[in-house]
Amino acid sequence: MPIDIPFRREFSFEYGRLEPVTPGLRRIVARNPSPFTFQGTGTYVIGSGEVAVIDPGPDLSEHVEALLAGLPGERVTHILITHTHRDHSPAAAALKSATGAATYGYGPHAGGQRGEPGAEEGGDWDFVPDVTVRDGESIVGKGWRFEAVHTPGHTSNHLCFALADSGILFSGDHVMGWSTSVISPPDGDMTAYMASLDKLLGRPDAVYWPTHGPAITEPQAHVRAFVAHRRERETAILDCLAADVGHIDAIVERLYIGLQPGLRRAAGRSVQAHLIDLVGRGIVTSDSPPTLEARYRLLRP
Ligand SMILES: [Zn+2]
Repeated sequence: MPIDIPFRREFSFEYGRLEPVTPGLRRIVARNPSPFTFQGTGTYVIGSGEVAVIDPGPDLSEHVEALLAGLPGERVTHILITHTHRDHSPAAAALKSATGAATYGYGPHAGGQRGEPGAEEGGDWDFVPDVTVRDGESIVGKGWRFEAVHTPGHTSNHLCFALADSGILFSGDHVMGWSTSVISPPDGDMTAYMASLDKLLGRPDAVYWPTHGPAITEPQAHVRAFVAHRRERETAILDCLAADVGHIDAIVERLYIGLQPGLRRAAGRSVQAHLIDLVGRGIVTSDSPPTLEARYRLLRP
């Protein structure tokens, strides 16, 4: 029976306005809606007077201007980046030059190693954090403290940020309410993603605020559904291989019924991510390196 993911898509906001969403937390949504960003990038502001900003968003000057216009008399002291996709980190440069705040992140996109052209069109290769943050480290400001939680998978440098004493986890694109995450090799890694879901299951966070869409108020059930969904997809891919359907295009054709044409490429990369994981676990092999074009088969039919 297909896994029922409890998606959450009720989302009320107004573009261009910094709005309170829960005590101590404000959000402004950038006008960059797409099949990958839902209604757009949600930029969060934590604290008051001296504030932290999480994921300043895409390179859209109207977004940075609207954010600053929403903070009269306040000072941005920290800019936190969950990961280096173009809908998350590029506006850090404009926000930093307007405020002088330092940027915090795990590191440059894909460790600074530019991947194959075309595979990484979503990456922000320009961002380099002023302060490099590792798993478990704290970022402290006036009236708030974050713990960084390294959650590779969607990208290798993805961080979630847990706000101390609040039960809030800013989950970036690792766990979202409106959609599953895109896992696109080479920087996207299914093995790491599954381990990062398990990592969140071992944490006590009570509510997740992802960068796109509404809060997730039952995060454990949500993460468990994502784990089950990926296991179900993996089983379906193994069934394809058992039926001698070994090319990614043909697997996508079989598994993604009624897929929007604009999402075919992402679906192919997701299947590839599963296959790379299965090759790594010694369950599947490929006739050539595990690319989008390779032919895959079960190692032990
Ligand atoms: Zn992303």
